[in-house]
Amino acid sequence: MGKKVALFSLTDCQGCEFVVLQLGEKLLEVAKEADFANFRLASSRKEDGPFFISFVDGAVTSNEEIERLKWIRTNSKYLVALGSCATTGGVNTLKNYFSGVNFPKEVYSRDFESFEAKPISEYVKVDVLIPGCPINLEEFVFVLKALLEDRVLKLKLAPVCEDCKKNGIECITKRGVFCLGPYTIGGCGAPCPAAGVSCFGCRGPLFSPNVTDAEKVLKDRFMHGGILFTGLGWVLVKGESK
Ligand code: SF4
Ligand code: SF4
Ligand code: SF4
Repeated sequence: MGKKVALFSLTDCQGCEFVVLQLGEKLLEVAKEADFANFRLASSRKEDGPFFISFVDGAVTSNEEIERLKWIRTNSKYLVALGSCATTGGVNTLKNYFSGVNFPKEVYSRDFESFEAKPISEYVKVDVLIPGCPINLEEFVFVLKALLEDRVLKLKLAPVCEDCKKNGIECITKRGVFCLGPYTIGGCGAPCPAAGVSCFGCRGPLFSPNVTDAEKVLKDRFMHGGILFTGLGWVLVKGESK
């Protein structure tokens, strides 16, 4: 029997767990070393810890989730933040910019606790981060295999531009399209620029990106009449026109 591995979800769309499901038959291969003791989308098995590795996807938005997260931490040798909701709060953090809106009522027509969305590292120690919205399957397998061998990997903090260079992808900014790649954690292989659209920053911001320069480049090169051209369409942004 392999080492116990669990996947848990907090507030999110569970898209990252669906990516793990795409392992299909390979999941059985990986399962020789990993015993998936808690993976709601794949099986009805629901075991208590201790777990060798726990993957947690989703942002934290309630006290109940904080308690669950602390329980997971206590019962896991390694804790991995799976996907951008868990590593940065992800799309859930959009609600943090609104005040006076009862989101549970608006979205689900019922009341429940849902405070400001935060990444899981705000509440517990996290051993490995796997960013992405959704995650990259190869990266998941890479981290899983390494942790099963007791090797803790550190996320490489290089921009998506490095993926473009490595894969010979022509920079889309040459076509006058704004791209968030220089300010985003790379490692995804740059599928968006490869498909001719801008990186929209799904893996989260690089720590301490050069925001001042970014703002200048954005205004000088990509704004026309107060509108920013992103390659995904025209998006209205606040700010002065050139
Ligand atoms: S990171 Fe994206 S795909 Fe993954 S759970 Fe969050 S919203 Fe869904
Ligand atoms: S397409 Fe985007 S990510 Fe790729 S090199 Fe250009 S700016 Fe960087
Ligand atoms: S190119 Fe950007 S948006 Fe696309 S997968 Fe990579 S980080 Fe995410």
